[in-house]
Amino acid sequence: MVFSLPFSLMINKEDYCEFCDGIAKPTLVTRTFERHGQKFEYKNIPALVCNKCGEAYLDGETVIKIEREIAEEVFATA
Ligand SMILES: [Zn+2]
Repeated sequence: MVFSLPFSLMINKEDYCEFCDGIAKPTLVTRTFERHGQKFEYKNIPALVCNKCGEAYLDGETVIKIEREIAEEVFATA
């Protein structure tokens, strides 16, 4: 199952990387979440990605929204 998040959720700030001295810049990433043997691919997830080490920081509220959506989807198809 593939989901695409609205572009309006884009993070519009930069931040310092917690792991190196790079700058984490707003980027859209794709992540696959697995729940109860089902795979959920999410595209256009707003995240800050470090330009040096590549660490991705996902926005907490976005992750909660995704988790909730997956929970509803799992429940609906169970
Ligand atoms: Zn970094």
